[in-house]
Amino acid sequence: MDCEDSDAVTIAQALAWASAELQDGESPAVDSRVLLCAVLDCERTYLFTWPDKALSEAQYTRFKNLIAKRREGYPVAYLTGTRDFWSLTLNVNESTLIPRPETELLVETALALELPESACVCDLGTGTGAIALALKTEQPAWQVTGVDRIAEALELAAANAQLNGQLEVNWLLSHWFAELPTDSRFDLIVTNPPYVESDSEYLQQGDVRFEPVSALTAGADGLEDIREIIQSAPDFLSPDSWLLIEHGYTQHESIKTLFAERGFSACRGINDLNGLPRITLAQWHKS
Ligand code: GLN
Repeated sequence: MDCEDSDAVTIAQALAWASAELQDGESPAVDSRVLLCAVLDCERTYLFTWPDKALSEAQYTRFKNLIAKRREGYPVAYLTGTRDFWSLTLNVNESTLIPRPETELLVETALALELPESACVCDLGTGTGAIALALKTEQPAWQVTGVDRIAEALELAAANAQLNGQLEVNWLLSHWFAELPTDSRFDLIVTNPPYVESDSEYLQQGDVRFEPVSALTAGADGLEDIREIIQSAPDFLSPDSWLLIEHGYTQHESIKTLFAERGFSACRGINDLNGLPRITLAQWHKS
């Protein structure tokens, strides 16, 4: 097929060409469809319904540019500017991590806890606002605070709140607890902090190469931020409240020890679909 002849290029031809271009990637067909939908501003079903529809020259040029960037490894979510998470569609940009499907387990776990009707909830390192907004959409009576130390991320989170039904979340610029009012008390603190080991080979592969390293790594053992969070959280927790942490699949035992040393109780891990512990939570009983 002659891909320079833009007049002749149909949806089906453009997809076939793009899939071949991306064949060394993880998901050539899906990536091609998602990127073409972004160019055409259409739903996925449109591509299957109208395979013979021709792309305009401008659309085809834009599509080729996106496919070229994807070939270089650039994440699809950064190319389209959006990622679905929970029931929400979130804007994303390079100031923050792209929300992962596995983080929905953190949301599910939080929603399953027994909490007061209008619980005070804090999402530490909120990034796109994914966790804070998913919780707020499910529990509108909760008073949710989203904290991040990157101003651009907070702007994104606030915009995402507007885009998803004007969800009312309190956004705060702070490195973990540093700027929280000292009298803040939460019934639940939830966090997906950086936890990858700083020399991990994983950082040289796939989409993570393009994400902010500050959102991914935390010292040699990946636990630097988690240690700080577990140490400081009790100053901001109500009696009988919970701290929920997402982490790597090898880190549960270390985190359990950190919780015990700090005086938390009822510590347990939650396994993902692979049967690996990716969340650890514990309760704070003291006032
Ligand atoms: N869950 C992310 C990953 O595996 C890591 C992000 C993080 O450190 N919170 O890519």
